[in-house]
Amino acid sequence: MHPTNNRIADLVPEIRSWRRWLHQHPEMLFDLPKTSSYIAERLKEIGVDALHENVGRSGLVAVIKGTGDGPTIALRADMDGLPIHEPSQADYASKTPGAMHACGHDGHSAMLLGAAKVLTETRNFSGTAVLIFQPAEEGGVGAKAMIDDGVLDTFGVSEVYGMHNMPSMPVGQFGLCAGPILAATDFFYIDIEGKGGHASQPHLCADPLAAVNVIYNAFQTIITRNANPIRNGLISITSIQAGEANNVIPQTAHMKGTARNLYEDTRDIIERRMREIVDGVSQTHGVRAKLTYDRLCPVTINHEVEADYAADAAERVVGAENVDRHQPARLGGEDFAYMLRERPGAIIFVGNGDSAGLHHPDYDFNDDALPYGVEYWARIVEERLPIRT
Ligand SMILES: [Zn+2]
Ligand SMILES: [Zn+2]
Repeated sequence: MHPTNNRIADLVPEIRSWRRWLHQHPEMLFDLPKTSSYIAERLKEIGVDALHENVGRSGLVAVIKGTGDGPTIALRADMDGLPIHEPSQADYASKTPGAMHACGHDGHSAMLLGAAKVLTETRNFSGTAVLIFQPAEEGGVGAKAMIDDGVLDTFGVSEVYGMHNMPSMPVGQFGLCAGPILAATDFFYIDIEGKGGHASQPHLCADPLAAVNVIYNAFQTIITRNANPIRNGLISITSIQAGEANNVIPQTAHMKGTARNLYEDTRDIIERRMREIVDGVSQTHGVRAKLTYDRLCPVTINHEVEADYAADAAERVVGAENVDRHQPARLGGEDFAYMLRERPGAIIFVGNGDSAGLHHPDYDFNDDALPYGVEYWARIVEERLPIRT
């Protein structure tokens, strides 16, 4: 057994206590005063060589130097929670009504803190490890904010690695693929202004709900009829709001949703067809319908060579039989995509066991996964920044 294994096992109770503190204090997007100061305090206790705060607004960057010169690689975790109420009765359940860590970013931050502790103690590498704690992964593209603030250029980062927990994958397993692994994630909004009136006089109105109905159905034909069937994606309309009363045709209606796909050309087709449909419905239904299409996050594309490095490091932790190098891509989104556009690297999934799914109120990060994630981080640094003798 590698000596780090025993050390990490010894550290797990402390890392778990960090994870649970973070779980109790979920904060959202860039607004992370408690979270980032708690993580900064732990990094100071650990004794990293340098700590930079307020990078990309509320992000943190810790620098750990190895025992010799060499390149710099970055490891990235995210810190933010979600606007979901947590029903859990656990003693470490969220103390903030309407907010919870339902995506496991508490676990991601705790594992990277654990890696900071191990790497600072062992320094069994030659070069520099840059640990990135990022805000606003959940719809705020905090990764881009940190890049814009110079996180990759300032610290001379040559490769970037990310990790996300994965429910339904057993604890102690890792998975990834080379190439597209997570989807381009776009949000769209449709605001429809019709002409309201008495429900008994539809002929004197322009019913925005009739327009909603046509748009809802026509959008699904983008996926089935316009996008290449083996390169398509999904469109989910997740919110429709209009009207109050049984006897009133409403004046306005509002729709929201998300479009996801693994190919940028498909993304272009989806946006173009949405515009054509919404404009067409405006003309044919006598309403004013406006589409706002917000390209949040590009396709997350693992680089071929670095995906292999990541899988090799995971194999050192759990053995080849527990690393799936050819996982199917998923239609979740990750703003880590922006970092992989700037530098070679890869994101890997770590098994979260039989938990509820990500973003579900019953979800919880599985503390049993902590040592695997921490050791993966230590391994990837040691493998990519070997001490040459
Ligand atoms: Zn999430
Ligand atoms: Zn997440």
